Amino acid sequence: MKYTLSITQRCNLACEYCYIAKRPEVMSLEMARKAVDFLFHHAGAEQKIHIGFFGGEPLLEFGLLAEITRLIEQHPAAAGRRVELAVVTNGTVWNGEIADFLNAHNIKLCLSCDGPSDVQDRFRRTARGKGTSARVERTIRQAQASLRETVLVNAVYRPETLRSLPATVEYLSGLGLREIYLSPDYSAPWSRADTEALPEVYRAVAELYMAYYRTKDPHFISLIDSKLVVLLRGGYQPLERCSMGRRELAFTPNGFLYPCDRLIGAADGKAHCIGHVDRGIDLASLACRRPAEPPSSTMCGDCGFRDYCMHWCACSNYFLTGSYGRVAPFLCASERAVIQTTFDVFVTLGQDLGPVFVHHVNGAPQANLRPSVLAA
Ligand code: SF4
Ligand code: SF4
Repeated sequence: MKYTLSITQRCNLACEYCYIAKRPEVMSLEMARKAVDFLFHHAGAEQKIHIGFFGGEPLLEFGLLAEITRLIEQHPAAAGRRVELAVVTNGTVWNGEIADFLNAHNIKLCLSCDGPSDVQDRFRRTARGKGTSARVERTIRQAQASLRETVLVNAVYRPETLRSLPATVEYLSGLGLREIYLSPDYSAPWSRADTEALPEVYRAVAELYMAYYRTKDPHFISLIDSKLVVLLRGGYQPLERCSMGRRELAFTPNGFLYPCDRLIGAADGKAHCIGHVDRGIDLASLACRRPAEPPSSTMCGDCGFRDYCMHWCACSNYFLTGSYGRVAPFLCASERAVIQTTFDVFVTLGQDLGPVFVHHVNGAPQANLRPSVLAA
């Protein structure tokens, strides 16, 4: 189960691609208590629960975050369960007190950094237009030095920065980061030329991934590793697919419920909202909003990539096409390129490194890929 607590929608930055409306509300402790009760009840008998602090910029409300952490830890329903905590931050608010608290409470730091200064400062700026790269780089170095848990980094790429993706990976690796997530901005205006560039760009990232491996310095790079697991399992499993409010919920400062943090948007209880902590989840609205399975789009048909493709991701589809169930050419092209690239990595590293690589990917046997995947 994955839960996101958006404890504030205030932010000290004004990133150009931000999808969160800036509002002055901060979650009250009373609302936080209701949200924590709600999520433990919603989780039922689930043993593993992930709770992320989100914003706006959640570290602007560090005191509140600390109080909610204690609420979670001391909740009777937390006993005997594995409750993982994380905070998603823009990397501009940092000090020793925060580091000590995260260490003491095993809270994972997920930092947003799009890449080297020419990439980071293109979109991630203050309201006055000042770049943030120097500040964020300093936080990455300080966090790496002071935190026990691995620091995770998320880099968003857009049409303007897609071709810099390999440089971004090299930059983040150079800062010592070994858990790197790469996320396309699905709301961006992706052109045909961008779409056609995807295989080459992903291939260049894969070359870096393989080079790190060969020099015995493996990195987790989401583009490759997330899909590798899917290939080895023979496709996405039912519980991994988007379930729109069933296995994932996002709470706004005012207690509204959303199916995932990417759909919070205005957080005003209107578009995409599926309920409130005081009233529960609106199952009727959920039913009509869940994407049809298989997707309503006719474009997928009997595509050989289908089991390995995220065509079912409702929020990605929504940002690209305005419909939870309609797949856009960009997502289709991106998924094809990732699947093919990942399969090539698996075969190449499997041949070069044999058991060493296979062990990394869970010791599973050769991927159970349908021949159609390779032929498609
Ligand atoms: S740091 Fe996050 S919440 Fe703040 S403006 Fe940037 S994307 Fe939006
Ligand atoms: S690769 Fe394209 S056609 Fe195939 S399942 Fe994915 S979105 Fe559908």
